Amino acid sequence: MTARPRPPPPLQTTRLRLLATTDVHLHLLGYDYYTDRSAPGTGLEHTATLIAEARREAPGALLFDNGDFLQGSPLGDCVLHGGIATPDPVHPAIRVMNRIGYDAATLGNHEFNHGLDALFAALRGATFPVVTANVARHQGVRPEADDTLLPPWCLLRRNLPDAAGQLRPLIVGVIGFAPPQIVQWDRNLLAGTLSTRGIVETAMALIPRLRAVGADVVVALSHSGLGPVDAGPDAENASTALARVPGIDAIVAGHSHLPFPAPGPAEPGIDLECGTVFGVPVVQPGAYGSHLGVIDLDLTHDGQRWRVTGGQAELRGINSAVPAAPEIAETIGPDHTATLAWIRRPVGYSARRLHSHFATIAPSDALRIVAEAQAAFVAQQLQGRPEAALPVLSAVSPFKAGGRGGAQNYIDIPAGELALHHVAGLHIFPNTIAALRLSGAEITEWLENAAGLFHHVLPGSRDAPLIDKDFPSYNHDRILGLGFRVDLRQPARYDRYGALVQPEARRIRDLRWNGRPLDPRQEFILATNSYRAAGSGGYVWARPSRLVDVGRTSIRDLLIRHVAEGHRPAPPAAPDFGFVPMPGTSVIYDTSPEAMAHLAEIAHLAPEYLGPTPSGFARLRLHP
Ligand code: MN
Ligand code: MG
Repeated sequence: MTARPRPPPPLQTTRLRLLATTDVHLHLLGYDYYTDRSAPGTGLEHTATLIAEARREAPGALLFDNGDFLQGSPLGDCVLHGGIATPDPVHPAIRVMNRIGYDAATLGNHEFNHGLDALFAALRGATFPVVTANVARHQGVRPEADDTLLPPWCLLRRNLPDAAGQLRPLIVGVIGFAPPQIVQWDRNLLAGTLSTRGIVETAMALIPRLRAVGADVVVALSHSGLGPVDAGPDAENASTALARVPGIDAIVAGHSHLPFPAPGPAEPGIDLECGTVFGVPVVQPGAYGSHLGVIDLDLTHDGQRWRVTGGQAELRGINSAVPAAPEIAETIGPDHTATLAWIRRPVGYSARRLHSHFATIAPSDALRIVAEAQAAFVAQQLQGRPEAALPVLSAVSPFKAGGRGGAQNYIDIPAGELALHHVAGLHIFPNTIAALRLSGAEITEWLENAAGLFHHVLPGSRDAPLIDKDFPSYNHDRILGLGFRVDLRQPARYDRYGALVQPEARRIRDLRWNGRPLDPRQEFILATNSYRAAGSGGYVWARPSRLVDVGRTSIRDLLIRHVAEGHRPAPPAAPDFGFVPMPGTSVIYDTSPEAMAHLAEIAHLAPEYLGPTPSGFARLRLHP
């Protein structure tokens, strides 16, 4: 009689749900403290409702945050600078995360913006582990030997019911990564105290160890955008490359603020249907609480341990139908009230009204103060570096200059004390400071591209429209530090996409720097914003190779600091911008009805009021 082999026990399967947020940036409530208004589509108080729903569907779900949770709203400044009379010892962001019940988190680059003491003061209050594997106080010869700032990973021990309802232990290993550039971006605060490694290099070394210490499932919290497949060793956006590192079961990406999975072009390795990158489920839940990432992993128990056999990822967006979870506002009520008082108090002063009614046709104090703040910040960042020898110019655009935004779409701040929301309104986008190293010749082309805002005007013609309404004013750059005139008799040299369409045409005339004609060979540093530094708006001269690293500070924040330090818009010098005179010619210009009180500022254009337009603008006839 031969013994029949015993059949193997039936495989047990189950599912594990992972939930994730990223780049919340202190948008705990759906409130924009910069504008002092509610901000639909943002706020962890709404994401918390989605979290509760997703947990109800899948009890035992784990919740992670992927970094940039301590910075990004005036609430943080209010906490840091003593704006709260009887502060809770636990930072409001951490208090909310404790309340929601996060299981683990990692650090983003912005966690380092206020130095390590402030970071640790906040982290002390956390009731969940915070991990980061590639940031070290002292580096060893290999990643395994690094003395990391925080634990590189944590092990979460849970019991999962199998299909028969029997609980079986599960160990989830959670490892964290930050962009290695943090040591450069906050060099003024961190110099010599920290060093970083590449994300992929660190993962290659540590994931096998995380498996070896018992992780059945490995989750990477990667505060890094998806990026190229073949990301370089120190890539800022390395999450796509990370997906190819063996042994990772799920990735939470972030930092770029872009949602994933989301509709987009087909890319190698990316399955938008399943939300996988090279087979690994990945979520990148937007920013400011806009989305909740949901990853469902299929697990099989082989008699020894749970193993991941598959999975899928999706995003759930907060929309107007997602109510706020009331416990969030409850948790930070006093902080919110204090922040409202904080943003409404005066932060600076302007002796003159700051408006953008004529920002596209004349020098504007509202633009000038932003340009000055950018230039001052960049000059300070360059101190002690080779680029410090180059003159700093500063490019700004009139974001609010009527157009499709309508007749209310202007900056108009009364003279006197400036509240924080006034100052923040001078630069309405959350982009960060950037700097480029450019030649005088390239800067001339830059201004030619910007001059595409204006229509071609024939000498002697009457009442032609001056502004091309299809050219967004946020793509019209003015450069502080240069004087020039625009020759409207010439057609635009570039089209709206930066293509050279009229090689013979030159609209920029009398271009001067420091009172002398601009030398096309001289090199300059151009301070600008991150949107423009990426070449947006057809500014093809903004090549990656010309970027000079000046950190990741938001322009609104550096502007608020500049004004709070007592800087006021410099008194108008000689006009640095105008048109080449066109005797006997008139053009039509629409602006805010409020501009009528300030026509003296454009007296040189001999404005005549022609009446209101159907959409509520005031129509002017100008004589360039
Ligand atoms: Mn961020
Ligand atoms: Mg970030």
